[in-house]
Amino acid sequence: MSEFLLQNDPTSQIYLDANATTPVLKSISDVVSHTMQICFGNPSSSHISGIQAKSLLESARSKARRVIGATTGDILFTSGATEGIQTGVVSTLIAAKNHGLRAPVLLYGATEHKAVPNTLEHWNQVLGINAQILAIPVDEYGILDCNFIAKHAKNALMICTMAVNNETGVFQDLAAIENAIRSHNTDVAWMVDCVQALGKTALALSETSIDYAPFSGHKLYAPKGIGILYIRQGSAYTPFIAGGGQESGMRSGTENLPGIAGLNKLFSLLLDTDDNTFKSLDILYEYRTQLHQALLDTFGSLTFNHSFSHSVPTTLNFAVDGLSSKEVMDMFDAAGIRVSGGSACSSGANRSFVLDAMGVSDWQSENAIRLSFGPSITQSEIEQACLRIRSLKAILAANCLVVSDSTEPLQDVCAIGLTQFRHQGACCWLYVSNNKQAVIVDPIVELIPRLEKIVQTQNLQLVAILDTHAHQERTAARVLLTEALKLTLTESNNLGWPISTSQILLSECIIESIATPGHSDDSVSYLLRCNNTNQVQFCFCGDLLLPAGLGNTAIKGGNALLMAKSLKLLNACLSEDSVICSGHDYQQCFAINWQVQKQQTALLNSLLNNDLSDEEFAKQKLASDEVNMDQFASLCGYAQSLEHINAKELDPKQARAMLKKSSCYIIDTREPYEHSVADIPLLFGVSAERVINIPLSRMANALVAQQLKKHTDYILLCRSGNRSKQAAFNLTQLGFENVYNLRGGLALFNV
Ligand code: PLP
Repeated sequence: MSEFLLQNDPTSQIYLDANATTPVLKSISDVVSHTMQICFGNPSSSHISGIQAKSLLESARSKARRVIGATTGDILFTSGATEGIQTGVVSTLIAAKNHGLRAPVLLYGATEHKAVPNTLEHWNQVLGINAQILAIPVDEYGILDCNFIAKHAKNALMICTMAVNNETGVFQDLAAIENAIRSHNTDVAWMVDCVQALGKTALALSETSIDYAPFSGHKLYAPKGIGILYIRQGSAYTPFIAGGGQESGMRSGTENLPGIAGLNKLFSLLLDTDDNTFKSLDILYEYRTQLHQALLDTFGSLTFNHSFSHSVPTTLNFAVDGLSSKEVMDMFDAAGIRVSGGSACSSGANRSFVLDAMGVSDWQSENAIRLSFGPSITQSEIEQACLRIRSLKAILAANCLVVSDSTEPLQDVCAIGLTQFRHQGACCWLYVSNNKQAVIVDPIVELIPRLEKIVQTQNLQLVAILDTHAHQERTAARVLLTEALKLTLTESNNLGWPISTSQILLSECIIESIATPGHSDDSVSYLLRCNNTNQVQFCFCGDLLLPAGLGNTAIKGGNALLMAKSLKLLNACLSEDSVICSGHDYQQCFAINWQVQKQQTALLNSLLNNDLSDEEFAKQKLASDEVNMDQFASLCGYAQSLEHINAKELDPKQARAMLKKSSCYIIDTREPYEHSVADIPLLFGVSAERVINIPLSRMANALVAQQLKKHTDYILLCRSGNRSKQAAFNLTQLGFENVYNLRGGLALFNV
């Protein structure tokens, strides 16, 4: 059992994101700490403290040589791989300034870490080299095209490749690359990024013609901010950092001795054949098999984005069929398993350029999950990880997310009432009556598998699939969903409304359709009225209204004058509490009622207060739409930012104190599949009744179901504090007075 996992502790995490970074091994951090406190001398000092420090530094250097097989050449201590990459590129490009080539190129692998192409681009420009920068393509396995290298090697000033890819674990055949390069160019500088190879593959750098090889400590249990750069004997070199002449003048600045001491310990462990901190490749392959099986058992259908025979055993990159990477990540995170979507360094982007280069499908690239572990992981940690992964199976089943075999779904997370589904800014709504009759409004193509799964696993009787106006892509979604569910619905018009009836009758409510042209000439709104009160509970208005905004009228079929009349008609039908369910929600509003909609939309307010005539409204609306059309990409409509109210925030200590009041409740705004894996009552020391799960997708339903009381104290939470902040803001807008957000969410709970 290693030190990273406290078994049976529900709050402990299983860290499976080693390719992003690793924790520091205790034995390494002890040495680092000792160096900071005891052996803290400056290696350049001539007294005993300095001599001791220097000796430590040289010991680390000589061990580094043995670890990477560098009997000759230089080893420099750097701040990490990015600095090593700069140094290699700058040294090469300065030496190549007077190259004399007619069409010089700089080559890099298409799946390289962004540090490489960005550095090439930067220094190519800054140093005025003006070489063409070319990406070396890879095949479907992620293997570099050696013919391409061979073809361009003659004109290349530098060739950058990597030993092991950080997203997929794919390793390259360095001997084949070397052959492709050197048979055409014996002089060109060749850099190999070895960051992800250390500890996972054997290296013998001096036996190759690699000129530069950067490494980074934090990818293998040493601290961040320390790395090494190997430079082949005789390769071009220009100091990247000048100054006091440390590192024989090759890299100035007082050395990061604690970091170097950490590397020294790491190298000792790697070299010690009697030590079993680092597992053999055979054992790591066996670990991969166990994780692979757990993933298969849990998710059923998933696609691996790399071939196991071309990758190191410590990385598994996959996409789950029918589940977005966000959903999978949220679920893993809630279960205390840390994995990453693609590469941590590019987690802002929603596609993987590495997977795109390998030609995987859009789905795989957009929804890739990377699970990576370090070579010091233990069998018991792997078992724990597998156990937790398998524990997700019941949650998947209970939330209709299960992708393969049909485990009995639990009814309590069934979608009775209204649920919102979103894809980017577009919204689709599913209403399920008490007797499980269902209506879908504004289906979205990307959500068809999800809707299909819910309808089937929950045994819903789908009564209608409705569009609020003819929208090319949405019409297709309605037809595709009808086909996917093999439905024979009663004959309907072009928006899906049953021809023979003026009302859709459900057990506790009716839905009626009213024409509300304005955004388009065929726009309708569907009003869901409660049988008992005759009040409109939900108004599905498509793009007539957007939360805090109005639909665009400056498009084909749009008519601002008709919009004015439609808005007045709606006003006559709706009550202040009617919840507005739009076709788009760019502001992440999730739930807004008619009262707040009017307050937040100045033009609407003026129209309904008769401050503006219909004609004046139309003139102003069209004028603003035309301006907005020029400024924004969206065609559907524009919303003002909601009037800003600072949501009240609490830290965990304040939250606990507040929960001492029995009238205070926690609202978990995460989706049910995340909510069910973490034990919130245990964490806060409150009874289960004091925790309510209202995900953002069910906020509209919660308002109508009167799940929340205006004067009660609520503490909202989610994983990172972002979703709950949004919900707190929205609820405050809606007049809930005592809503607090847990700052930083569960992520910062124990920090
Ligand atoms: N190269 C690869 C393959 C990496 O995975 C990383 C880190 O993500 C880097 C380079 C950059 O390393 P560092 O964080 O040490 O600058």
